[in-house]
Amino acid sequence: MNNSLMKQFPFDAEQPPILACPSCEHGRLRFIKESLVKSEDARTRNWKENWDEYDSRDATLHFSVRWKCDEPKCAEVLHMIGEACYGIHGVVDSDGQDYPEEYLAYHPHFMAPSLPLFSIPEGTPKTVRASLKAGFNLAFCDTNAAANHLRKAVECLLNELGVPNNTALGNRIKNLTSPHDLLKHDLEAVKWLGNEGSHGTGINQEHMLIGYAIMEKCLLHLYDGLHQKVKAINQHKGPVPTARHFRHPSDGSAPIS
Ligand SMILES: [Zn+2]
Repeated sequence: MNNSLMKQFPFDAEQPPILACPSCEHGRLRFIKESLVKSEDARTRNWKENWDEYDSRDATLHFSVRWKCDEPKCAEVLHMIGEACYGIHGVVDSDGQDYPEEYLAYHPHFMAPSLPLFSIPEGTPKTVRASLKAGFNLAFCDTNAAANHLRKAVECLLNELGVPNNTALGNRIKNLTSPHDLLKHDLEAVKWLGNEGSHGTGINQEHMLIGYAIMEKCLLHLYDGLHQKVKAINQHKGPVPTARHFRHPSDGSAPIS
């Protein structure tokens, strides 16, 4: 789980975070300061012009900004839009004294391409991957919708695992058979969180993120390449023969298929 991602927001444009590039996954997204555009919303402008008691702490601004990957071969450009409001943070002056300072806190709502909440294991089926990515797209602006997509990802996963789609989701999870029955408790927890976003009173960001973290655990169990190797080594009780084996180069022999 990309635990540090949500901690980067809201951000201060004077000290922007450095984000991992969602396209190449090893480059860093750098904030393009000159691309930042912001404006007060109509309510704030009206209030500012017509009320003596205007307080900047109640102002709301809309913003857009671009970020660019510093990996030259990638150079992905991420577009971000969102809202900004004034906040207070502590600043230390040259004498080491702490004092409060007003700053604009930028809250992203949408990003294109989206920032992943976790790196989806390579072998994950397309349908599950698509639901997760749809959730990633909404995770910063609508936690309920993101939780709903997570619930859909569970439905897609059960389809991929061959569980008949002829009953409620809770029953489908209970119908998981060995060896996937190990996932029952985890998927049930994801279902409860997804239900809260879909039909309940609503889900906050913390609980939505817990749901995605549990789903990541399930997908790593099913599709992560290293985990599959661990299972194979244990079943084989030792190194698993691969398709081609090579003798040590010093013995001068040809490779064995
Ligand atoms: Zn990149």
